[in-house]
Amino acid sequence: MTPEQITGTFVDFYRERGHLLLPESSLVRPPDDPVLFTTSGMHPLTPYLEGRPHPLGRRLVNVQRCLRTTDLDEVGDSTHLTVFQMLGSWSLGDYDGPRSLRWGYELLRDGFGVERDRLHATVFGGDGPVGPDTGSLETWGELGVPVELTGHENWWSNGPTGPCGPDSEIFVWTGDTPPTGTPTTDRRWMEVWNHVQMRYHRDGDGRLGPLRQHNVDTGMGLERMEMVLRGGRSVFEGESFRPWVRTVTTLWQPDEETLRRVCDHLRSSVVMISDGVRPSTTGRGYVLRRLIRRMLTQLWRDDPSRTLSDLPGEPFRHTLDGFRLGTGFGDPRDVLLDEERRFRGLLRRGRPVVSRYRSRGPLTDEDYRYLHDTHGLPRDLVDGLLTEAA
Ligand code: ATP
Ligand code: MG
Ligand code: MG
Ligand code: MG
Repeated sequence: MTPEQITGTFVDFYRERGHLLLPESSLVRPPDDPVLFTTSGMHPLTPYLEGRPHPLGRRLVNVQRCLRTTDLDEVGDSTHLTVFQMLGSWSLGDYDGPRSLRWGYELLRDGFGVERDRLHATVFGGDGPVGPDTGSLETWGELGVPVELTGHENWWSNGPTGPCGPDSEIFVWTGDTPPTGTPTTDRRWMEVWNHVQMRYHRDGDGRLGPLRQHNVDTGMGLERMEMVLRGGRSVFEGESFRPWVRTVTTLWQPDEETLRRVCDHLRSSVVMISDGVRPSTTGRGYVLRRLIRRMLTQLWRDDPSRTLSDLPGEPFRHTLDGFRLGTGFGDPRDVLLDEERRFRGLLRRGRPVVSRYRSRGPLTDEDYRYLHDTHGLPRDLVDGLLTEAA
């Protein structure tokens, strides 16, 4: 199945069950949101999960591009991306958790053809004042899907305060051998879908109370589902990454981990730029700048003459299409090339300065401040140049 077919199957399934399609949000959060980027499908729904009536009703479904800076260090493994797409469904004070799990199982089995013997669930087994999630436990038991009980790993919250509750995560076996172990004992169980029951609210003093309405929030990773349906070994083997992987391999022949990081950072940057983010020294722009510079650093480690201007237009178009994006905020390619030029210039000027400093011994905080204020060299760049010279 292509990403479009997976998305269509998911959305149709929930539409047939009374869910209305919620329009997708930008990655860029509005100024009153304390968080820089949309991190999940539920994120823009926060006020409605807390009780405000949603204009589209109590059953919603959507597709949402997401960005998690917290996952950056994991990018390069087989399942984590910086920017990814999340397929989501919600019950805003309507049906309960077991109903959501039953539908989830039905969609996996009948819509996507994932058989029960490749599935494993995890369920909240109780932690502190809250007891085990017996509803989910019984439901999985009736469906015949094996369950592993955990503690806080299956307690969902979106920060220190706000809605929270137990969740049940669904894993699919991705190994070449018949399934063994459980999600916590064998990494070949990959999480594809999370069903959260938001029933509690934590206040500013850390006290847990009931939430005004009981919600269900689910999120499925599109690229992970694609990997499951292709029987691939990583999310980079699917249609979503095909032109990036082909192009980067042909141009630069990097090792596997570099290939994954470079493809992730390129695709993620294209989506961020298309949502209006531009490289800068603070906030969202700094996240983008770091992403681009990390990627260039990886590419230049083996050959400093490599340049993004060798990238053809196809992977760019493919990503914009895949994310249903236009070029209203300008051409992502131009932004990448401009940032490459700046970074190259900065390195050229910075190298001799940093090596002079290095010969005098370890750098002090004052040295870092001076290099930043006078030469425009940020600390992480100076550290990079120091390692390079070592
Ligand atoms: P993991 O434990 O694998 O890091 P998670 O529990 O942090 O995932 P959720 O917050 O439950 O993820 O998000 C819902 C779904 O979104 C996950 O089940 C997964 O399919 C997908 N997902 C989450 N993070 C990523 C990511 N960095 N890249 C790709 N897909 C992701
Ligand atoms: Mg995670
Ligand atoms: Mg998880
Ligand atoms: Mg999860």
